[in-house]
Amino acid sequence: MYDLFVIGAGPGGYTAALLAAKKGLRVGIAEGARMGGTCSNTGCIPTKTYIESINLFSRITAASRFGIEAGRPVLTLGSLNKRKSRIITRLAKGVEQLLKDAAVDIYPQPAQIIDQGRLTVGDRELVTRSLIVASGSTPKKPALFGVKGIWTSDTIFDVTELPQSLAIVGGGVIGMEMAHIFSTLGCTVSIIEAMDRILPSEDPEVSAFLAKAQRKVSLHTSSQVKDIHGDGPYELTLEKPGETVTLAVEKILLCIGRAPVMPQGLERLGIEINKAGGIRVDDTMQTSIPGIYAIGDVTGEHMYAYVASKEAGVAVDHLTGGSRRMNYRNIPTIIFTDPEIASAGKNLDEIDHATARHGMFPLSALGRARTMEAHDGYAHIICAASGRIERVTIVSPHATELIGIATLAIDRGLTAEDYLGLYHPHPTLSELLKEASEDVLGLCVHKP
Ligand SMILES: Cc1cc2nc3c(=O)[nH]c(=O)nc-3n(C[C@H](O)[C@H](O)[C@H](O)COP(=O)(O)OP(=O)(O)OC[C@H]3O[C@@H](n4cnc5c(N)ncnc54)[C@H](O)[C@@H]3O)c2cc1C
Repeated sequence: MYDLFVIGAGPGGYTAALLAAKKGLRVGIAEGARMGGTCSNTGCIPTKTYIESINLFSRITAASRFGIEAGRPVLTLGSLNKRKSRIITRLAKGVEQLLKDAAVDIYPQPAQIIDQGRLTVGDRELVTRSLIVASGSTPKKPALFGVKGIWTSDTIFDVTELPQSLAIVGGGVIGMEMAHIFSTLGCTVSIIEAMDRILPSEDPEVSAFLAKAQRKVSLHTSSQVKDIHGDGPYELTLEKPGETVTLAVEKILLCIGRAPVMPQGLERLGIEINKAGGIRVDDTMQTSIPGIYAIGDVTGEHMYAYVASKEAGVAVDHLTGGSRRMNYRNIPTIIFTDPEIASAGKNLDEIDHATARHGMFPLSALGRARTMEAHDGYAHIICAASGRIERVTIVSPHATELIGIATLAIDRGLTAEDYLGLYHPHPTLSELLKEASEDVLGLCVHKP
């Protein structure tokens, strides 16, 4: 009998298993595919592995601007694929080793639920006091895209031949990161987005900025794919306001969101499902059935690895008698495009715009950015009338790192004045936040 059994060894599931084992529980975990889940194998890590390489490639290409004659670099999809495989294999082994060291029993097969306390993995029947469902999500693929050869994030990282042209359906975070990768590799990329702008869940100023910065990518916004002919190359029929256009491409990559994956047998429990189609949970991550928890993408909401692992902590705390509660305020978002984009704090529609105070600073006016030959970007800070920082947006190299400072400032309720009470090392990119804070107070002397 296990104290806890976990279904799925992604960032949600394996974190929960390790935390529970550290608390002395007898824990088992089943993983039907690869240790580390989507994040390590087909999500966060492969994308950022590719992006790190292509960013270095771009820097070498621009070496002469740094006073270096470096010749013409060569980068192939095959070499990226090889590097990615080395990295994700190591990470998967690392997760497995951590679980073994913590004496968690690992079952490398899919688990099926029999009833509340019983499940099967392969031909083993197991009994557990509590269960965490962390079975993640899978790319959405409507019937229209059932055509042969269409790629998703599950298959794209196994591709070794670069197509000449690629249509990416979906201009959200994943679609735009993919566009950055494939356009830098030399592929002709078209983004097809149903909403009237790319990155529709970000601030409109961010969408507009990236649309301008991604000069090599053609954008089809307010566009719906109505028909697909061929099986590679393809001809897509796009419906736009007032017109229908045809787009011929060699390959198609589908990035239109992800759907929760339910373990077999879950339906027998009569567990409640939420509006997003995921498992409904309360703020302790418990489902409608006491003793059964759901964490991560399977809840259908806030699909980030760092949310999944935070939820793991709350679920394990609750099932071991703790009082922690999950809150979804101030979740930073990060996008690894060029330039990087990150934001934190309230959504724009939660801000009192009549009294809000704004501070803006352009990257091009920052000394450190000049040394890096980086020009495209800015920081935007929005404060309440009291000066309290409510929202921060950063568009710049390393924005995905810098946002941590803003997240802390917002979480601790700092004002722009509090923030300026600190020392801000020079010359650094973090001065973007200092300058934008000064701008909130009308004290920014460097703003052009
Ligand atoms: C291209 C891409 C890029 C991304 N980039 C980022 C990023 O930069 N930052 C970020 O925070 N997030 C990113 N994400 C999202 C992130 O990968 C997910 O939010 C995260 O992996 C969710 O973790 P999880 O533990 O809920 O599920 P998963 O990581 O999906 O893991 C679930 C695991 O459960 C297993 N499983 C399913 N059913 C069963 C069963 N019945 N029995 C046993 N095992 C089962 C699956 O095989 C899988 O390994 C990205 C996603 C994609 C697709």
